[in-house]
Amino acid sequence: MGRTGLFPPMLSDAFGRTVTDLRVSVTKRCNFSCVYCHDEGLGPVDRPRSAHGEEMTPAEIERVVGVAREFGVRSVKFTGGEPLVRTDLEEIVARTVRQVPDVSLTTNGSMLAARAERLRDAGLKRINVSIDSIDPAEFRAIRHGALAPVLEGVREAIRVGLVPVKLNMVVFRPTVDRIPEMVEYVGRGEGLKLQLIQFMPELVGHQDWRVDMGEVTRWLEAHASRVIVREMHHRKVYVVGGAEVEVVDPVGNADFCANCHRVRVTHKGELKGCLNRDDDLIATRGLDDAALREAFQRVVRWRVPYYGVYIPMASVTATNGPSAPAPTRGATG
Ligand code: SAM
Ligand code: SF4
Repeated sequence: MGRTGLFPPMLSDAFGRTVTDLRVSVTKRCNFSCVYCHDEGLGPVDRPRSAHGEEMTPAEIERVVGVAREFGVRSVKFTGGEPLVRTDLEEIVARTVRQVPDVSLTTNGSMLAARAERLRDAGLKRINVSIDSIDPAEFRAIRHGALAPVLEGVREAIRVGLVPVKLNMVVFRPTVDRIPEMVEYVGRGEGLKLQLIQFMPELVGHQDWRVDMGEVTRWLEAHASRVIVREMHHRKVYVVGGAEVEVVDPVGNADFCANCHRVRVTHKGELKGCLNRDDDLIATRGLDDAALREAFQRVVRWRVPYYGVYIPMASVTATNGPSAPAPTRGATG
């Protein structure tokens, strides 16, 4: 398939979900080791470093984003690992905005203060900073890092205009009682929003850390002065005090999946059609543009609806890929 002029064909899966959003992991390395995360696969780091051999180069990332743009992708989010362990993140952002202007980043914030302005100058539009607790000791117990530099990073991001800064708080047993305090903190600060992220035990085990997100939602409903529904994943935004609070609850949530418009790219440049599966990866490094376009089409063709419904495949063939069972609404993972 070649370039198609003014109106590129949107990628749409067999269940009518168009792909508008790309989430690109730029590394698996990290300087933290959060208790709920398994993303230090390429080893911990203590300061920013140049790209690891496994990681996509800025030029490779730009090419993948460029092809995604041809298919109508409108926004790109960088994640990891910790994206700021890469010294070339500013170049990655600068190259990406040449293709897709709406570029954002999720970071642990620990190395953000010194680079927020440069990232903004490179074209970064928004930022998510992960903060599970505003108590320094609790923060350290969960993330194995210091809170103060993270808060400094948040302040600097706001100062340079990367607003609103969304704070990501993972909701699990150790943090659930701290939600009211976090909501109040966010309500007090200018330029902040809060995302309450459901703990995903499948990443690290610990079923005992799960909490009932229904209870969290009921608490928000009881305290909200207003509720807004966002297009992305049909997420509700609760306005509580001065704070805007969103709940991100993908686990066993058919509604989340039904409204998912995202394709992921791993740090090695593999396309990945779903957050919750690893049997649909398509390597793109070394492919020419035509093959890269075909890879995008294939990974989207393989998308299946509704978390946990697909049958894990023993093998994925290049021609057929994983099979997509019929949609089953309300299935759990
Ligand atoms: N290192 C960056 C950070 O911590 O923000 C970006 C990568 S991190 C994998 C992206 C987000 O996933 C963070 O907000 C993190 O808190 C969240 N996360 C990691 N493991 C999780 C889990 N088991 N359940 C839910 N969220 C998780
Ligand atoms: Fe994982 Fe992010 Fe924590 Fe690093 S900072 S261990 S990537 S959640």
